[in-house]
Amino acid sequence: MTTPPAIRIENLVKEYASPGPGEPPKLALKGVSFDVPQGGIFGLLGPNGAGKSTLINILAGLVRKTSGSAEIWGFDISENARNAKRSIGIVPQEIVFDPFFTPFEVLENQGGFYGVPKSERRSEELLKAVHLWDKRDAYARTLSGGMKRRLLIAKAMVHSPPILVLDEPTAGVDVELRRQLWELVTELNREGVTVVLTTHYLEEAEQLCDRIAIINHGELIADKPTRELVGMAREKIVAVTVDKDLGGPIMEEAFTKAEVVEPRRLEITYDRDKASAGQVLALVQSHGYAIEDVTTREADLEDVFVQLTGAG
Ligand code: ADP
Ligand code: MG
Repeated sequence: MTTPPAIRIENLVKEYASPGPGEPPKLALKGVSFDVPQGGIFGLLGPNGAGKSTLINILAGLVRKTSGSAEIWGFDISENARNAKRSIGIVPQEIVFDPFFTPFEVLENQGGFYGVPKSERRSEELLKAVHLWDKRDAYARTLSGGMKRRLLIAKAMVHSPPILVLDEPTAGVDVELRRQLWELVTELNREGVTVVLTTHYLEEAEQLCDRIAIINHGELIADKPTRELVGMAREKIVAVTVDKDLGGPIMEEAFTKAEVVEPRRLEITYDRDKASAGQVLALVQSHGYAIEDVTTREADLEDVFVQLTGAG
């Protein structure tokens, strides 16, 4: 028996109406399908404008899909919207609060909205978890940007959903707060919450997520375990500085590319399955050059991303 996915997205299409006369409608999602497995941290990665927020906002019930379907925890978002919504907590990309409520009130109001009985409210526990207990009675408008983001995470969790979705949680956030948010997300995941986060930071997705889907221009272009995705970048780059000016590029069958980037510096791209760095250097020496300096670069998610999207 296989565990059903936390989220199932099938052929999801979103066309935004034309913003004005003479302007074409915008096809933000062009038939996207993927599953989010239960229990992991899933990264939805893509450049700005790719369609990430559109997809999240459809799940949140904030944007109407044009066609296709989505299930959250087995509940169809159209046919069983109420149960679908109860199964997910969403932290939107934009921070919006009523400035005159305190963090404690924000959580209590949200609990009321979801019909969580007073005896089952978790406001204190959640405020402590996001390190805002000492701010429980402060007006939301007096909180820093980082505190507001943490409060939004607590707010998304008041009804104890099995899935937490964060749309660009760390965009424009400083290093320290980013670390705190990562910790919080990891902790919630350890407690059993399936986490989905969107990001345009490759490094963030690589470090945090066990599975990554990439969308670009409204189309899904990859959906794989992180390790496999990173492994797709077969190419390695070695930059070699030699003892005299290079007459021209040195090409060998083992190289996929060799480029003279400075008079004495050559950048060689090779397939790490077909050659080793040692062999590459030996080939350079065989052309009569002595090697003075070498740097190599491992492929990372950035390389995969560039390969897949043709960006860069
Ligand atoms: P991302 O979150 O990946 O940056 P979005 O989902 O916000 O991408 O946007 C995807 C595309 O849809 C973009 O081209 C954006 O300009 C467009 N778009 C988003 N929201 C609207 C809207 N309300 N009306 C019209 N176009 C929109
Ligand atoms: Mg967005």
